[in-house]
Amino acid sequence: MTAYGHWIAGAWRTPEKGHYPVVNPATEQVVGEAPESAPTDIADAVTSARAAQSGWSRTPPRERAAVLDRIADVLAERGRDLTPLLQAETGATTRVTSTLQWPTAVDRFRRYARGATEADVIPLAPRPVRASPLAPGGLIGAAAVRRPVGVVGCITSYNFPVVNLAGKVAPALAMGNAVVVKPAPQDPLCCLELGPLFREAGLPDGVFNVVTGSGAEAGQALVAHPGVDMISFTGSTAVGRQIAESAGRSMKRTLLELGGKGAAVVLGDADDEAITSAIGAVGSVWSFHSGQVCTAPTRVLVHRPLYERVVTGLQHYAQSLTLGDPVENSTIMGPLISAAQRDRVEAHVARARAEGARVVAGGTRPDLRPGFYAAPTLLADVTPGMAAAREEIFGPVVVALAFDDEDEAAEIANSTPYGLYDYVFGADTARAWAFAARLRSGNVGINTVQRHPEAPFGGFKHSGTGRDGGSFALHAYSEVQSLVWSS
Ligand code: NAD
Repeated sequence: MTAYGHWIAGAWRTPEKGHYPVVNPATEQVVGEAPESAPTDIADAVTSARAAQSGWSRTPPRERAAVLDRIADVLAERGRDLTPLLQAETGATTRVTSTLQWPTAVDRFRRYARGATEADVIPLAPRPVRASPLAPGGLIGAAAVRRPVGVVGCITSYNFPVVNLAGKVAPALAMGNAVVVKPAPQDPLCCLELGPLFREAGLPDGVFNVVTGSGAEAGQALVAHPGVDMISFTGSTAVGRQIAESAGRSMKRTLLELGGKGAAVVLGDADDEAITSAIGAVGSVWSFHSGQVCTAPTRVLVHRPLYERVVTGLQHYAQSLTLGDPVENSTIMGPLISAAQRDRVEAHVARARAEGARVVAGGTRPDLRPGFYAAPTLLADVTPGMAAAREEIFGPVVVALAFDDEDEAAEIANSTPYGLYDYVFGADTARAWAFAARLRSGNVGINTVQRHPEAPFGGFKHSGTGRDGGSFALHAYSEVQSLVWSS
């Protein structure tokens, strides 16, 4: 079994504080040993990034683009070899791993290879400016120019470790930043494996560093370090709040992608096609990584006359899913990441039951050993005040609520602290579009849970601040400098 080091300055570094085990959620066996962090490990990773950043930022954009393209090539060729490790540490099914983990990471590096050469100068029209005690008058020219932020600390959640890393690191490197990545404790091994691969692709030593740790300390030390200019964080709202407070003290830039409690609103005009789409979309809460996805439509809000039909459709969907070993091709739903997460999900379901929710599907622990499995669960007759309707569960649990008109639908949809991703289903897309304007949510899908790779991604309210996605990510990982001259 491999005992990994931190990846710092283009080399493995033996951790001062030893290792902790990374556990396969399907077998409960140890997959590998990840390094614990001491403050000196974090400090050295930041020092390495600082030393490398200035040279990398002065590397011509075309050369940066070529390196990012080569990283995409290496990941496309070698990612497949790491698939067993990725599956073992995440518990993701073969379908999810093969379609959405490596291919999406490759796409992200290719996209931001192009991003490195996107225009970074925004010309502004010259303005005649009168003389003042400050300076003589004249035709004054100006441009807004994007500059790198510097050293970016990238702290990520478990679930899609490599994709999440790529979504931060690729645009950050494209803009000339250096990074220190701190992956989630549960699934950090493939992120560590990327170090030598990026080096092989020609990325200069120190531009990309990875440190890990089993607790909050590694992330906390990175956020507090004065040598870090920006924190890009994906994770829970509770931790995001702590990071915002700590980062604010040293005026670090932040990009915060936090929790969600997505609503899928089935409007009264939904026809057969829209209802079928809605059931498939909401069913993805169970079939897509067992609901451990921040954008999942975990609340289905249905116009009352359609309510029982949608609930019955979802019940059949849940009961049709094959739950089991994620490496079996026939498996649609694998385990949750840990025993702790499964216990959390079960506690939510027990509380909802006690508060009066009707368990239409699932609700009991599946008879599968070993592994941290939870059954696809559908809770009907939920009311907006119940905890299950307000709190993020991050597991395979859908709650169904009925509404009588669109005012009530908007009120329920907006009644949680979150605002990450909502969905609207109906026959008339113009009506759905108009309804989207009433949703306090950073993203709204209309009759689909499909994504657009160029669309800005981020949250309203407690789901975060800032946007990445497409060219918006290049903005997120840069500072705008105004250049002003007399002509
Ligand atoms: P988490 O907040 O517990 O941990 C996320 C990361 O923060 C981990 O790397 C963890 O070690 C680190 N961390 C913990 N405490 C810290 C601290 N005080 N300072 C700095 N770093 C700290 O989240 P999780 O359980 O890994 O992931 C699930 C959460 O992530 C859910 O809330 C989910 O909605 C969210 N998520 C959001 C998005 C998005 O793009 N909006 C995507 C995926 C997951």
